[in-house]
Amino acid sequence: MQNCLFCRIIAGEIPSTVVYEDDWAVAFRDIAPAAPIHILLVPRIHVRNILEAGSHPGLMDGLAKAVAAVARAEGLDMSGFRVSINTGADAGQTVEHLHLHLLGGRALGLMG
Ligand code: 5GP
Ligand code: ZN
Repeated sequence: MQNCLFCRIIAGEIPSTVVYEDDWAVAFRDIAPAAPIHILLVPRIHVRNILEAGSHPGLMDGLAKAVAAVARAEGLDMSGFRVSINTGADAGQTVEHLHLHLLGGRALGLMG
């Protein structure tokens, strides 16, 4: 989608630090990290949020595979990490292209 920030990052039109990609997903470092390791995992196809993800068979499986690959590559599989998906205004979703935040590298505490 032309005006979507994450579609443009996936297309390479906006620079990012890509750490992983496969047929389903692209993962890149968050520009404003909230933890020592903060990676965004996004589906290649433009899906607005998790409410729409179920309409695309295989998509969440693909993202889960990407989460595991990135967590292992970043050395987080033993120490632990958090995956969060903001959806809509109350969660503070700012980019309307489904994205998983993968956070780790320190004790994360409880979420607000
Ligand atoms: P949301 O608040 O929608 O759940 O998360 C959007 C995330 O995208 C934020 O954590 C924000 O820092 C990140 N972000 C916004 N613009 C850019 C960008 O241009 N590049 C990268 N790598 N991350 C971005
Ligand atoms: Zn998009």
